[in-house]
Amino acid sequence: MPAEHAAIIGAGVAGLTAALALSRRGISSDIFEQASELTEVGAGLQISPNAAHILDDLGVLDRLTDVWLEPQSIRLISGTSLRKIASVPSGPFARARWGAPYGVLHRATLQSALLTAVAENPLCKLHLGARIDAAALPDTQRPADLIVGADGVWSQLRQRIDGSPTARFSGNIAYRFTVSGDSAPDFFDRENVSVFLGPAAHLVCYPLRETGNFNMVAIVAGNSGAHAWLSQPNETQREQLSSRFKGWNRALTALFDKADGMNFWPLYEATPGKWQDGRDTVLIGDAAHAMMPFAAQGAAMAIEDGYELAGFVATRPVAEALPLFEAHRVPRINRLRQRGAFNQFAYHARGPIRIGRDIVLSLRPPQSLAADLDWVYGYRAVG
Ligand SMILES: Cc1cc2nc3c(=O)[nH]c(=O)nc-3n(C[C@H](O)[C@H](O)[C@H](O)COP(=O)(O)OP(=O)(O)OC[C@H]3O[C@@H](n4cnc5c(N)ncnc54)[C@H](O)[C@@H]3O)c2cc1C
Repeated sequence: MPAEHAAIIGAGVAGLTAALALSRRGISSDIFEQASELTEVGAGLQISPNAAHILDDLGVLDRLTDVWLEPQSIRLISGTSLRKIASVPSGPFARARWGAPYGVLHRATLQSALLTAVAENPLCKLHLGARIDAAALPDTQRPADLIVGADGVWSQLRQRIDGSPTARFSGNIAYRFTVSGDSAPDFFDRENVSVFLGPAAHLVCYPLRETGNFNMVAIVAGNSGAHAWLSQPNETQREQLSSRFKGWNRALTALFDKADGMNFWPLYEATPGKWQDGRDTVLIGDAAHAMMPFAAQGAAMAIEDGYELAGFVATRPVAEALPLFEAHRVPRINRLRQRGAFNQFAYHARGPIRIGRDIVLSLRPPQSLAADLDWVYGYRAVG
C-alpha cells in the first residue's frame, strides 16, 4: 500500500518540507520536534535554484522572495589582496538559466515560512517539545505506515536501521558571526555573495536584507572533541581561528576581534550508510547525509529529499518505495560530496596550487563557471 500517514521526527528544513510534500499527495503526518519553541540562530542560508523551485511548488517561495536578497553574483576574492579572482553570475541570470531564483536569507525566514505553511495545512500536525526515542515511537493520530527520521546529524532514528550512517567530526570548524551594516568595511559588497579565499581557510560573507547585517562564516581546519553548537569560542579556539588566518588581509582579520556573539561550530558529517530499513523507516536530510558546507547544499538536499520521498511513497507500497528512493538519491548526494571536497581543496589551497588555481579561475568566463553548476542548480526534483 502507498503511504497514508507518516510520523516525521524533526521539524528542521527536511522534516517540514517532507510534511508539506506528503500533504500534496494526500498523505497526512504528525511531526515531532524536541524543541519546545522553534527559534533559529542568527545565521544566514543560501537557497539555490534547485531548492527554490521546490519551495515554489510547495507555495512557500513567495513568502521568501519579498525579504531575501537575490545576489547578482557569487564572487571568489583573494583573502590577501582582496582582488576578485572569479565570479559566477546569479540574480536574473540564475532565474533565466536554472528556471528559479538564487537567494540569501536569514534561516529564521525560511523556518517561519515553512512553519506557517505547515500550520495552515490540515494534513500536517506539529508537536513541539516532543523528543522521540528510536526505541519508543509516539502514538500518532492515525497508525503511521511511514516513519521519517529528519532528526539531523545526531539522528536517534538511525538506530532503527542496520548499517545506517554515524556522525563523525570532519576536521573542520565553522566560526559564525555577523557584522553590522553600519560598521562594515567599505569593501563589503551589498549586492553579491563574497567568498574570500586564503591558505587553509575561507570566509563567506553576504548581506541579510532582513537584519541589515552581514552574515559571516569562517571555515578552517581544526580540532574539536565537543559537538556543542552555538557555543562561544574559548581562548584556545579563538587562537586557532587567528592562526589559520595568519597572512590574510588585516582588514578581514580585524573583524574577528570586533565580532560579537561569535559561534564556534565544529562540523560533523554523516558517514556513508543505509538510509532505510526496507520496511517503513527512512532517513532524510542531515540524518542521512550531513555534509560539509563547501557547496552550500545541505539544506537544499534536505528539501530535495523531502520532496522526492513524497513522490516515491505516494505511488508504491512503502516497503518497495524506500529502497528505490535511496537508490535514486544516493548518486546525487555522492556527487555533491565530491564537489564539496573539490571546493575544499580549491578554496584552501596553498603555495603553487593556489597560484595555479587563481590563474585557471580568472581565465574562465563567468558563463563557463555557471555551466559547471547546471547539474546542481538545474536539477528538477520529481515530487
Ligand atoms: C556553517 C554552515 C553553513 C551552511 N550553509 C548552508 C547554505 O548556505 N545552504 C544550504 O543549503 N545548506 C547550508 N548548510 C547546511 C544546512 O544548514 C543543513 O544541511 C540543514 O539545515 C539540515 O536540515 P535538517 O532538517 O536535515 O536537520 P536539522 O536542521 O538539524 O533539523 C533536525 C531537527 O530535528 C530535531 N530533533 C533532533 N533529534 C530529535 C529527537 N530525538 N526527537 C525530536 N526532534 C529531534 C532538532 O531539534 C531539529 O529541529 C550549512 C551548514 C553549516 C554548518
